[in-house]
Amino acid sequence: MKLLKNTALFLLICLLSSCEQPEKETKEMPTYATDTHSYAKPNEAVAKHLQLDIDVNFDKKIITGTATYTIENYAGTAIVFDVKNLKIQKATVDGNEVQFTLGANDAVLGQSLSIPIATDSKEVAITYETTDKTEALQFLNPQQTADKEFPFLLTQGQAILTRTWIPIQDSPQIRLTYNATVQVPKELLAIMSAENPKEKSENGQYSFKMKQPISPYLIALAVGDLVYKEISPRTGVYAEKSMIEKVHYEFADMEKMVNAAESLYGTYAWDQFDVVVLPPSFPFGGMENPRLTFATPTVIAGDRSLTSLIAHELAHSWSGNLVTNATWNDFWLNEGFTVYFEMRIMEALYGKEYANMLASIGRQDLSDEIKNFRNQPEATHLKLDLKGKNPDDGMNSIAYDKGYLFLRTLEETVGRAKMDAFLKEYFNTHAFSTMTTEKFITYLNAELLQKNNIDFNVDTWVYKAGIPGNAAKIKSDKFKEVDNVLSDWQYKTITASNVCEQDWNIQQKIHFIRNIPEKLYDGLFEKLDEACDFSNASNSYIAMVWFEQAINHDYHGNNVDQRMEDFLMTVGRRWYVSTIYKALKRNNRLEDAKRIYEKARPNYHSVTVNTIDEMLGIN
Ligand SMILES: [Zn+2]
Repeated sequence: MKLLKNTALFLLICLLSSCEQPEKETKEMPTYATDTHSYAKPNEAVAKHLQLDIDVNFDKKIITGTATYTIENYAGTAIVFDVKNLKIQKATVDGNEVQFTLGANDAVLGQSLSIPIATDSKEVAITYETTDKTEALQFLNPQQTADKEFPFLLTQGQAILTRTWIPIQDSPQIRLTYNATVQVPKELLAIMSAENPKEKSENGQYSFKMKQPISPYLIALAVGDLVYKEISPRTGVYAEKSMIEKVHYEFADMEKMVNAAESLYGTYAWDQFDVVVLPPSFPFGGMENPRLTFATPTVIAGDRSLTSLIAHELAHSWSGNLVTNATWNDFWLNEGFTVYFEMRIMEALYGKEYANMLASIGRQDLSDEIKNFRNQPEATHLKLDLKGKNPDDGMNSIAYDKGYLFLRTLEETVGRAKMDAFLKEYFNTHAFSTMTTEKFITYLNAELLQKNNIDFNVDTWVYKAGIPGNAAKIKSDKFKEVDNVLSDWQYKTITASNVCEQDWNIQQKIHFIRNIPEKLYDGLFEKLDEACDFSNASNSYIAMVWFEQAINHDYHGNNVDQRMEDFLMTVGRRWYVSTIYKALKRNNRLEDAKRIYEKARPNYHSVTVNTIDEMLGIN
């Protein structure tokens, strides 16, 4: 950033005094952190720009095409890419075909693809085809979509799946710009994490441009019978026809969210902020693909009650997409900061009490996660060591909620004004670069703690297990009300009908259900469902926590088992389905879990399949 500032200053002086351009500086070798999840050797040769030309074939369920890279070349011997389950057909360097070498296959990482280059090589092109083992891609048949008329394709790149659909240097610290041409059936619209079309073309051909350098895991593509509806000139939504009005209503506050975010931590750097709502098998709540967040339809609740997800993905436009974790061991830098920022956006829009409810839910998730990891305390460190493991293993409540708690505790220690000034400067100084945990700590010590003479146990938070003693206490008055009702109901001072009559929002209902104690008077749980009909809840979050409790309480009334099975058959959001399968397993219903999963598995994305396969012991 300093360099940029100096360059700008120099140009300004030049403009004012018409001086000559200096000779081009010799290329400085960049330094990259060691990333054990990529074969790339960016210190020797690194891709700076991708031209992707592909054809999406829905009949064969494959993508074919060419990835052409403009490279920066330091050592001049070879450039190494990551590939996994791809058929590599040809490699050329500056137009001439060369012999490429594929390394040994690793179940998690895939293979290295090494292409020989000379000192003056500038462009490397790889012609390839995806296979039926391509984990990033999910081809859905029409039955799996909302409108049930056309097929759908979605990609999920994070953490290391982009290499399964594009041969690429797949480390988050290797940022690149990209252009793409994509051919799809002419009935369908293609959109990417780039400048996007707002309507279908006549011939199914689309061109894309992402002019800001991004990490490989953020390259994304969705293809379907999609339409667009604007919310404001720079925000809008894509969805299938039957969903578009509902989606537009649900996310009506998107422009307000962008405004709130900008007034906290600086200008939105990606020009456009759109959301595409995907079919229910999408494995995550949301994915922060730049300019085009991917979202699950399970947040379309009809009452805007689950839109904190959009605030979360928007916050990633700063923490994650602008300042990016250098390796997956530093994942908490992406997610902890994003949860903190999400809470601040929600507070700006809906008030402190609302944000505190959301934070309290996260706090409970964190306590549960720490219990899950009681035999693996090192998994509760913020900075992880995922060498030899799948980086997905680090995608749990620790990165998100312990990361949040660290920043919230820091805020309460230094005061909000200093915290905000620090974070704004942090994003500004490190925009479009990557961050290691160590580099962040050095910056934090210098720019916030030492400057203000503040003692803070940063190392304990980052490098030690569990939750440090100075953690901020998160309190919610609205949840306190719920706790009182819960206690009255549990001891039969009030009836189940009294519980349902409470004027509660979704978060309060979730808090109530999640905290129903294990031991209850006989019949109490049944009466609760008779009165409140939670088994038939239309809100997906309520349904999920209720199914978990129904399993815990060995409850089978009100057709709950069928409802749960239907839910697992349609929804593929990993957090939801893994919570339910885990509860079945924990309560000696492994056979039920396996029976349902066997039917549901073909509907799930590989990200969800990998998690549930391991959980249920399926190979
Ligand atoms: Zn996130």
